[in-house]
Amino acid sequence: MTTAQERQPEQHSFEADVSRLLHMMVHSVYSDKDVFLRELVSNAADACEKLRYESISEPRLSADGVAPGILVALDEEAMTLVVEDNGIGMSRNEMIDALGTIARSGTRAFMDRLNAAKGGEKAELIGQFGVGFYSSFMVANKVDVISRRAGQDGAWRWSSDGKGSYEIVAVDPIEAPTRGTRVVLHLMEDAKKYTGKWTVEKIIRDQSGHVPFPVRLIEKAGAEPSQVTDGAALWTKSKTEISKQDYDDFYRGVSGQYDEPLMNVHFKAEGRHEYTTLAFIPGSQPFDLFDVERKGRMKLYVKRVFITDEADLLPRYLRFVRGIVDTSDLPLNISREMIQESPVLSAIRKGVTGRVLSALEKLAESEQENFYKFWELFGAILKEGIYEDYERRSQLLKLARFRTTASGDATRSLAEYIGSMKEGQSSIYYISGSNLDQLNASPHLEGFRAKGIEVLLLTDSVDSFWPTNAGDFDEKSFKSITQGLTDLDEIAGADDSKNVPDAPHEVTAFIDFARDVLSQEVADVRVSSRLTDSAVCLVASEHGPDRQLEKILQGAGRLQSASKPILEVNAQSELVKGISSIAEATFREDAAWLLLDEARILDGDKPTDPRAFAGRQARLFKLAIGQPE
Ligand code: ADP
Ligand code: MG
Repeated sequence: MTTAQERQPEQHSFEADVSRLLHMMVHSVYSDKDVFLRELVSNAADACEKLRYESISEPRLSADGVAPGILVALDEEAMTLVVEDNGIGMSRNEMIDALGTIARSGTRAFMDRLNAAKGGEKAELIGQFGVGFYSSFMVANKVDVISRRAGQDGAWRWSSDGKGSYEIVAVDPIEAPTRGTRVVLHLMEDAKKYTGKWTVEKIIRDQSGHVPFPVRLIEKAGAEPSQVTDGAALWTKSKTEISKQDYDDFYRGVSGQYDEPLMNVHFKAEGRHEYTTLAFIPGSQPFDLFDVERKGRMKLYVKRVFITDEADLLPRYLRFVRGIVDTSDLPLNISREMIQESPVLSAIRKGVTGRVLSALEKLAESEQENFYKFWELFGAILKEGIYEDYERRSQLLKLARFRTTASGDATRSLAEYIGSMKEGQSSIYYISGSNLDQLNASPHLEGFRAKGIEVLLLTDSVDSFWPTNAGDFDEKSFKSITQGLTDLDEIAGADDSKNVPDAPHEVTAFIDFARDVLSQEVADVRVSSRLTDSAVCLVASEHGPDRQLEKILQGAGRLQSASKPILEVNAQSELVKGISSIAEATFREDAAWLLLDEARILDGDKPTDPRAFAGRQARLFKLAIGQPE
């Protein structure tokens, strides 16, 4: 029973983020306002799924036996559009939480992107991703939500004009649905078309044709409802009965993304385990792709009842895949906690993972352009599997594509790389860093370029991790070209005259001197076999992390102190020869330090002591100009 106090309307302010989102909705430049309806129908369908799920353990919740469904009612005279469901409903507190705050992290990420986007892009983003309940305010100047939680007596009305606050009040149960939620949109003058039967029916068919509950339409006050969609689960139909349009619509419903999927994987597994999967590779990156939680969103159904979207149906490195798995091998009343440990589910997970990867392999073979698109969008995520999924490592390496010194703007596979390896080459060479231009300009590449040896250019942050424990691929190991000694001399090159001749005596003497002077900063100074143009570069020692990985680990506070790098000197460089020929002690010392700082700068770092660096440079300038010290 409601108390007198509860019958008094109570005013609440929206959370700041909601106000911002609402402001964007109300002033939306988005021309395709139809999307509000798909959001309301999708919420109604979610509510029906929740009811079905909760009724398994608490049958009294749907004891009336009325099948869950969705009703859309139009009233031209009253200028209202109503979306009503007989799903789970909301209690007073649930309304405050669900409709006054933004809980989903994806929505938050969406808002940040939306704020950063310019006019036209904003509109596109709203179209591409679901923006939820608040999109109602694109077409309505007032929204009432009347709801009764399944199994409860009391009912509540939430209303707002979308301008900063909402009101909540207890309503007479007679005025509320016996169970579920009624959303009443008081339409703006220019949204009158949403009271028209044909318009609304078409929108529902186009946008919500595959929600798993029937949708009925009442075209005007007093009319009988007619069925618009039947609520049959698409995945139970056979592939031949399903059009691309059907698949795309279903994808949009299940993912909350409104782009076009790159491809789908639809199959029914029979045998030891029975389950059906309908999974999609999205056509754009979901907003939560780089969340630290790295959660997937595949939905688990048991005998067509939605159970959870937190069952980890795919490994983390496939978290971009959207879709469903429906199985009859699990009990309906399985608790969400039990699911994680279920051996049935781990068998299903393995099966679905295998199917998704082999579908990607097929795509790579037969539709290279689409595969390229896929790789640009999700390659960085898939590569996480190379060090997380030992069993499928070589399969993932086969799928991987790389920019290389030979790829130009395209990408190459490891098979292609191996196909053009030089005689005597036993490793797959790579260099990693944060951007392509910097990598391309790296002095470490010089010797490899001179010999025409291809090097992978790795720029994703995950690239700093997997090559060190990727093991072998096709019996070739991965080798960082910024680490250890190169074996360039053993590899036949395009131009063998480039093989490094012995260093002149003066240069070795200077190198010995520099090793002494710089002993606090570097582990060694030695003649380089990888440089042809630059005077110097820094490399990491043979064992331990390469330079890039070391920097990342240090940045993340996971490495106490970096190991000292090795300074390599190009003994054939005229500059180095010239420097070595000068005997003056101050000059030699300045030169040693300046060469080290130059190598640091080429590596994207700073001189460790900027004042000393500036002082040495000034002394050198004075020498050049001929000014006295
Ligand atoms: P999302 O559906 O992605 O969670 P929305 O903005 O569409 O985001 O909805 C916010 C929340 O409001 C939902 O998560 C749900 O808790 C609640 N809600 C909205 N519509 C309904 C409904 N018809 N029945 C029950 N709860 C609803
Ligand atoms: Mg929603």
